[in-house]
Amino acid sequence: MDSPIPQPILDALTDVDMPRLPPEAAATEYRTVAGLRLPVYRTGCLIVGSGAAGLRTAVELKRRGGEVIVASQSAWGGTSACSGSDKQTLHTANTADRGDNFTAMARAIRAGGAMDEDIAYIEAVGSARMMASLQYLGLPLPQDRFGGTLRYQTDHDETGRATSCGPRTSRLMVRVLAEEALRLGVPILNQTTVARLVVEGGRVAGALALRKEDQAPGNPLGVALLLAPAVVLAAGGPGELYRDSVYPNGCFGTLGLALEAGIALVNLTESQFGIGTRREGFPWNLSGTYVQAIPHIYSVDADGTEHPFLTGYYRSTQELASNIFRKGYQWPFHASRMLDFASSLIDLAIWREGQAGRRVFMDFNRNPLPVPGDAAFSLDRLDPDVATYLGNAGASQALPIDRLRRMNPLAIELYRRYKVDIAAEPLEFAVSNQHMNGGIAVDGWGRSSLAGVYAAGEAAGTHGVTRPGGAALNAGQVFGTRVAEHVAASGVAQAPSGAVAEETVTEAVAALLAPLRPGNAHDVRSVRAEVQARMSDHAGMICDSAGVTGALAQARALNAALAAEGIDYSRPGEAARALQWHQMALASEAVLAALDHYVAQGGGSRGARAICAGDGTRVPQARALDLDAFRFRAERAADRDEQIVVQQVDGRLRVSTRPNRRFDETARPFFERDWPDWLTGALFDLPGG
Ligand SMILES: Cc1cc2nc3c(=O)[nH]c(=O)nc-3n(C[C@H](O)[C@H](O)[C@H](O)COP(=O)(O)OP(=O)(O)OC[C@H]3O[C@@H](n4cnc5c(N)ncnc54)[C@H](O)[C@@H]3O)c2cc1C
Repeated sequence: MDSPIPQPILDALTDVDMPRLPPEAAATEYRTVAGLRLPVYRTGCLIVGSGAAGLRTAVELKRRGGEVIVASQSAWGGTSACSGSDKQTLHTANTADRGDNFTAMARAIRAGGAMDEDIAYIEAVGSARMMASLQYLGLPLPQDRFGGTLRYQTDHDETGRATSCGPRTSRLMVRVLAEEALRLGVPILNQTTVARLVVEGGRVAGALALRKEDQAPGNPLGVALLLAPAVVLAAGGPGELYRDSVYPNGCFGTLGLALEAGIALVNLTESQFGIGTRREGFPWNLSGTYVQAIPHIYSVDADGTEHPFLTGYYRSTQELASNIFRKGYQWPFHASRMLDFASSLIDLAIWREGQAGRRVFMDFNRNPLPVPGDAAFSLDRLDPDVATYLGNAGASQALPIDRLRRMNPLAIELYRRYKVDIAAEPLEFAVSNQHMNGGIAVDGWGRSSLAGVYAAGEAAGTHGVTRPGGAALNAGQVFGTRVAEHVAASGVAQAPSGAVAEETVTEAVAALLAPLRPGNAHDVRSVRAEVQARMSDHAGMICDSAGVTGALAQARALNAALAAEGIDYSRPGEAARALQWHQMALASEAVLAALDHYVAQGGGSRGARAICAGDGTRVPQARALDLDAFRFRAERAADRDEQIVVQQVDGRLRVSTRPNRRFDETARPFFERDWPDWLTGALFDLPGG
């Protein structure tokens, strides 16, 4: 069956070209530090990262008259530019249907707990503005003939607040924001890896980066000094933390860098895991219509024998097929959905096949096989919610591939671009790490615990235990804007940075280079292999107390060894990666320290993680299998009211907790009373009033 949408339209939504960067202006100032001739770049605000969050910050601040430089490891790399799912989701207030209620939306955003209530409200109330401004910049969000935005329902979303331009929504966001940044003349320093913050007198003074462009005989690693009184960390999430990952390659984020600067991190225990194709091939989420088409899911063992393993879990073919469908909008694993034969039993089953050394596939040319003793798959035997959806979508075709083509031809097109024809061959996939909900602890203006440092996007730990699908992109846009508003109001970015003491820079350069020791036993490959395996094996969606504690001890041992011996790099071009792996080892210890604290205090299964324990009170059931080994602890309600904070103090990671910030839902804004705070800038809560 052919798609009703002409090929050129599909092409335009899948192949999204990015703008060309203009040539970079060479540094005009140099400083000799520790025998190195360092180029100096001065600005008012240094933005680390050119994803959707960083570019939003840049555009908003530049429009407010701020001096801005964006430094990026890879200008069109990162998660926003390179990842997606069947239709990538943007979560925004539902302004087109029957109206929305920002308080209700904020409640939905923080429904999983461990989230500051003010931040949830800020994200809700800011979302309509974010969407409208992206549309103004040219983001092609779909509308009905009356101008209403088309919506659908996504994960943790009971109302239908999701919208999308297709699988490349976040890449399109990066494109329109990049075009605007270039129109405004924002300098983008590409191939620039920011590796250390420069701190003076308790506040940030800038950062040190490694830049290919600045490699020279007097500076073989290309160390550059980027001076700015405000620094925005918008470097995305720690995608390299796990071996089993659906992040694009090379996503490190800046959690380790922040820890080294003594910045507080929060909610590191909370990550999303779900099904997708791994980054070794083409990393992509298998949510939405990929599973709503109800493909056959099976595994293959070492002998090449196929196993329709899901039939051992579900009690009827209808239950099995309906739960495959529900993974479309219940995409992330959730421990409680392993119970009562619900949809996360599928994630567990796939995870177990992986543990048994089997490869798992999705076949769009076959319907699910029947559960033994039950009738064959039929579109007439599906749960009512599933049947209604497929009926409304016109997906009554006999085969999954034709149902998928009917509902979302772009989903097929996308894989074809990467030489995988899911119309012709089965697709291998796994349960992978996809998103870090925690990160740098920020207030309602995106300020971190270090004066002058802000965070936005996935770098910021603004999400709680769960988040509606699309809330990550929305949070990056809302907080990119909030940060820009705050930096502009503070006035620090109106002119490029001033003087910084010689001693400050010398110390920072020495600390930056200290871990780099050629000829060492630890190198990029060994640290990567050790960190990723440990995280995937002991801190993934299935955990237990002994495994987490053991993993923490090993992570500490690795960091002690790295501190004593450093990390090798084989050529100047690998030095930045070596520093990133050094920092990733620290970030991994911080995640494990938070998780160990949570589990040791009796914390139960929540979000995308099941805490398995012999004394657990919940046991997933399966039709023909004993799952007692996955008996898990239930979530404790009190844990929803607080967040776990990790900070490096005197070279040690300290773990503590703090209550969620509250938001008074009954307080109403009142124009005449509140206007002066806006006019005077009092609402920015700047030091000194
Ligand atoms: C497969 C997949 C599907 C997803 N689907 C959705 C979805 O449908 N809806 C949703 O809301 N969210 C989704 N997410 C999450 C969302 O895409 C990300 O959270 C979001 O794009 C992060 O944007 P960002 O700007 O914070 O970071 P990124 O887009 O990752 O950008 C980070 C930038 O920082 C740069 N950088 C990194 N380190 C350094 C450094 N040390 N120095 C200089 N530059 C650096 C990178 O080059 C990059 O430019 C998905 C994620 C994945 C992996």
